[in-house]
Amino acid sequence: MDKCAIITGGGRGIGAATARLAAKSGYHVCINYASDTASAEMVAEACRREGVQAIAIKADIATSDAVEEMFERCTSSLGSPDLLVNNAGVVGSATPLEHLDDSVLHRTFAVNVFGSVYCARSAVRHMSTANGGRGGVIINISSIAATTGSPGEYVHYAASKGAIETFTIGLAKEVGSLGIRVNCVQSGTADTDIHRTEGNPQRPAMIAKLAPLGRVASTQDIAEAALWLASDKASYASGSILRIGGGL
Ligand code: NAP
Repeated sequence: MDKCAIITGGGRGIGAATARLAAKSGYHVCINYASDTASAEMVAEACRREGVQAIAIKADIATSDAVEEMFERCTSSLGSPDLLVNNAGVVGSATPLEHLDDSVLHRTFAVNVFGSVYCARSAVRHMSTANGGRGGVIINISSIAATTGSPGEYVHYAASKGAIETFTIGLAKEVGSLGIRVNCVQSGTADTDIHRTEGNPQRPAMIAKLAPLGRVASTQDIAEAALWLASDKASYASGSILRIGGGL
């Protein structure tokens, strides 16, 4: 049976590694991105080299209409989604809360929380066995910031990831009987563009010194956890939050 995966923020970083691994695992892949068309098309090409179909769709997941349209386009090109990886996320800027701009706070929650919820809602509508769907898996990408709280840097970001973890637990209970498993990967620091975007490019090197395993995560480390949770090998995992934090 053909399987289809939607990876939000699949054009770069953890999402790109997850999209490539999904392709290797036999999924047709829909790579969602915000603005970097060249990167997303490169990932789609890499996926096609694995022998599956792949498309890149530009859509701001913070907009519910754009999310609906993306799911419709994906379904008509590749088939109804069996896997959603809610990976797209932003940090905003690293700052103590008292200096946080409204616009950064709104954008962080709009993308990380609202965007993930919009995508999960569309996925449930497509996957639900009660609607004639064939079930599926939703994986939310959180951060160890949800546990540490990230004081002095980005408590707003940590709070948005805490929301996604609570959402994972509740949604898993709500849709288990509809054939849908919902899980979360709580990612440790990985050396991706997100740190440069937030103006903190030294962060991965600093965290590598603190991590018991002596390094930050590779994007592959996080992708492997997501694809394991998505696989039949994890068929009894739902509502799980799997920390991949190098011992932190
Ligand atoms: P990244 O390298 O900055 O890539 C982010 C991806 O998300 C890009 O493809 C970007 O699209 C896309 N994106 C951003 N906003 C979007 C929106 N509104 N709509 C659609 N796509 C959007 O980030 P990353 O480090 O791989 O992070 C991926 C996830 O892991 C995030 O949820 C992040 O919070 C989480 N995480 C990361 C780390 C880390 O250390 N890297 C640690 C813990 C958790 P464009 O390419 O078009 O810009």
